[in-house]
Amino acid sequence: MEGSIVLFGPPGAGKGTQASVIVEMTGKPQVSTGDMLRSAVSMETDLGKEAKTFMEAGKLVPDSIIIGLIEKRLTEEDASDGVLFDGFPRTIPQAEALSRITLVSTVISIEVPDDDIVDRIVGRRMDPETGEIYHVSFNPAPAEIVGRLVQRKDDTEETVRSRLEAYHDQTKPLGDWYSSLGILVTIDGSGSIEEVGKAVSEAINQK
Ligand code: AMP
Repeated sequence: MEGSIVLFGPPGAGKGTQASVIVEMTGKPQVSTGDMLRSAVSMETDLGKEAKTFMEAGKLVPDSIIIGLIEKRLTEEDASDGVLFDGFPRTIPQAEALSRITLVSTVISIEVPDDDIVDRIVGRRMDPETGEIYHVSFNPAPAEIVGRLVQRKDDTEETVRSRLEAYHDQTKPLGDWYSSLGILVTIDGSGSIEEVGKAVSEAINQK
C-alpha cells in the first residue's frame, strides 16, 4: 500500500495492540508519538523534560514539539514508503502539518465507548523487555513474566479523565476531517483483541 496509515481512536482503544497486525501485514514501521515521548522523558532530554508535565497531567503536548519529532522521524530511511502512525495526529494543526509532509492513504478509527476506557486503561500493563501490552483481566500476561510488568504513570483513573477530555475536545474532530477526505474506515473496538484484529486486517486488505 502506498503512503502512510493512521491508527485513530481514544486512549485505551487498542491502537498499540492492533498496530502489530498492520506492521506485520504491510511492513511499514510503527511510529508512536507516545512511545517517542516516553523515551525522551526517560532519557531526560530537554524535549522530554518539556513534555513530561503535559503527559503526567493527561494533556496534549504542544503541536510544535510533536510536529518537530515527526518531521525528523520521517527523514529516516525506513519511513520512505510510509509508516503506521499510532497516536498521531491528535489535533487539526498536526494533521495539516502531516498532509504537507507525507501522503496519508488510510485512517483506521477504532471506536470504544467512554465507559469501557477507564477499565481498559487502569488494568493495562506493559512488558518493558518486549514492549508487549497486556491487561490484568482482558489479556493476562504469562505467569512467568507478570513480575516484571510495569504500569504507565499516566494510566491512572484520574489522568484517564483528562486524556478522554483532550480526546473529545481536540482529537475527535479530526475523525470528521478524515471522513470528509473519504479515507476514514471505522472499526468497532469493543470486541476481543482477535475480533478487532480481524476487522483491522480486513480494512487493510480492502485498500
Ligand atoms: P499515548 O501513548 O499515545 O496515549 O500518549 C501518551 C501521552 O503523550 C498523551 O496523553 C499526550 O500527553 C502525549 N502525546 C502522545 N502523542 C501526542 C500527540 N500526537 N499530540 C500531543 N500529545 C501527544
